[in-house]
Amino acid sequence: MRAAVLHEIGQDKLEVLDDVEAVGFGPGKVKIRVRATGLCHSDLSAMSGVLPQPAPFVPGHEGAGEVTDVGDGVTGVGPGDRVLVCWLPACGACPSCKRGQTHLCLAGLMNAGTPNFKRPGGDVFGFAGTGTFAEEVVVDAGCAVPIPDDLPYEVAALIGCGVTTGLGAAINTARVEAGSSVAVIGCGGVGISAIQGARVQGAAQIVAVDPVASRREAALRFGATEAVAPDALADAKQRVTAGEGFDYVFEVVGRAATARTAYETTRRGGTLCVVGAGAMDDLFQVNMFELFFDEKRILPSMYGGGDVLRSYERAVALWRAGRIDLEGLITHRVRLNGINDALDQMRTGEALRTCVEI
Ligand SMILES: [Zn+2]
Ligand SMILES: [Zn+2]
Repeated sequence: MRAAVLHEIGQDKLEVLDDVEAVGFGPGKVKIRVRATGLCHSDLSAMSGVLPQPAPFVPGHEGAGEVTDVGDGVTGVGPGDRVLVCWLPACGACPSCKRGQTHLCLAGLMNAGTPNFKRPGGDVFGFAGTGTFAEEVVVDAGCAVPIPDDLPYEVAALIGCGVTTGLGAAINTARVEAGSSVAVIGCGGVGISAIQGARVQGAAQIVAVDPVASRREAALRFGATEAVAPDALADAKQRVTAGEGFDYVFEVVGRAATARTAYETTRRGGTLCVVGAGAMDDLFQVNMFELFFDEKRILPSMYGGGDVLRSYERAVALWRAGRIDLEGLITHRVRLNGINDALDQMRTGEALRTCVEI
């Protein structure tokens, strides 16, 4: 079957190959014919080495499709069921799951060290244990989450990562209060989802910050009350908050420099919510005086920071009610053959989300 493979970390092009096979099917596993997958910034970060990932690997972790086969002991889904791929399934038994912090369960990510595919050249891994830039994937039963019939595959795919991450940051982690002021730094698919989450929560002002003009225009369509380039953020802080700083600032870039700007843009006692996934050697610095004296809350948000399955259901309910726009996030569509052009559009910041039809 076809899949897009990165041969070595640091390369910027994928090779679309026809000789790849999904492996590992057996008890407790589900085989999925992937129909749509979103291109998430984390795929680029894994390719460049910012996020740890063994190679060669098939990127993609934001997908949806139909179940074609299930292994012994799988009861939740069967052949023909429509599902989205959850890259961080909760095991239900580890200390994090027992505490109710199922988004911190590491059981699923432990599979990331086991090859998901093979080809004549040898083993091939799947990003985050999935690898949805492929016609077929084999995943743990917990990764195959049934979706309702009215949810298109391409929208379900986005709920599998970017939408859940952004909405959850605003609703679960920061718990944005009605009437508050919000700034969102970084307005790709995840940042736009944080904007929509802040709007759903009733924020009064939402300032979108991004260097790319097309993303600033998009942010306004999705609920930002104004959109500025990064060099105009200090002025917006002065104008919107009388210089005090925003109640909530979302960092959706994943760099220490923008996190520091976000920290300085947050009011005393306000909340800095860190959503971007950054590198292990990129250090965020806060001095001990300001940390104590300004009492700013620094809240990281991983995969939306709440129960993942509950967050999926909430995204579907909000989408069905017309309270959030998910179709509008998809600015580009490609087939697997066009994946390298899509990666370039992601790098330039042209695309909010590219849907890869498979
Ligand atoms: Zn667990
Ligand atoms: Zn993602």
